[in-house]
Amino acid sequence: MELVVHGGAGGVPDDPKQRQQVLDRAAAVGAETAEPLTAAVTTVRVLEADPRFNAGVGSAVQSDGIIRTDAGVMTGAGTTGAACSMPGVEHAAGVAQVVAEETPHVLVSGQQAVDIAEAFDIPTGVDLWSPATGERWAELPAPGDETREQLEFVREQFGGIDTVGAVATDGDGIAAVTSTGGRWCALAGRVGDVPQIGAGFYATEHAAASTTGAGEAIARFGLARRVVDAMENGDDPETATDRTIRGFGAETGAEAGVIAVDIDGRTGSAFNSDGMQTAAASRY
Ligand code: ASP
Repeated sequence: MELVVHGGAGGVPDDPKQRQQVLDRAAAVGAETAEPLTAAVTTVRVLEADPRFNAGVGSAVQSDGIIRTDAGVMTGAGTTGAACSMPGVEHAAGVAQVVAEETPHVLVSGQQAVDIAEAFDIPTGVDLWSPATGERWAELPAPGDETREQLEFVREQFGGIDTVGAVATDGDGIAAVTSTGGRWCALAGRVGDVPQIGAGFYATEHAAASTTGAGEAIARFGLARRVVDAMENGDDPETATDRTIRGFGAETGAEAGVIAVDIDGRTGSAFNSDGMQTAAASRY
């Protein structure tokens, strides 16, 4: 298994060493797994459980004070699923995998996505607040209950980027997985790029990519799809990720990062934000 994981594009974190240790462990645990989709989901699961990352526990909060999680998964064989707007669901990537493997759909949202989690024994009702998120939220002015009041609050507070994802191949199969709590103080119900096919994640028989960054710009640009298309057109993963992120920055003026792998096990990553930590592992 050849596996790469990212811990989100964004600023330079206060605790890069600790985050790197978690990323290294997540990559190692995933690479031990038999099959690429499960390997990538297993890797992401470690990060969803760690409050240092914006996914699962430690996720960003929305304007109504509720944390909702989103994720998407895709394999080179076309298995595709996503789940979004899930309060109390730590392992959003696991729900996306269930949507991909157990339903005829590609995206399920809200309470019904939480119901799917429950039906497939993925824990629900989990407290996703980390102490750091709680402190940050407590310092903000009250957003108000009305949608227009909350929009005012969002205009002042919305921002930040960070998320987690993994790509993996064993030479036969290939997969991409991305999971997030979204962006800080987004309007309640906002869904970013992460559960959108071709934006937050994408895979073909030959290539897979997972993205992170300003989700609205990533969705408009179709970042994961463009990286995979570049690899399908002959770029190696390093060139594809570099060039596409440069094009993304020039076209949108926004910040993002991406990791990619091809079926030959070659990997690449690029970002135009101040930082994006990654880890890689190989096991054959
Ligand atoms: N792309 C994610 C979102 O917009 C956030 C991130 O990757 O930092 O929901």
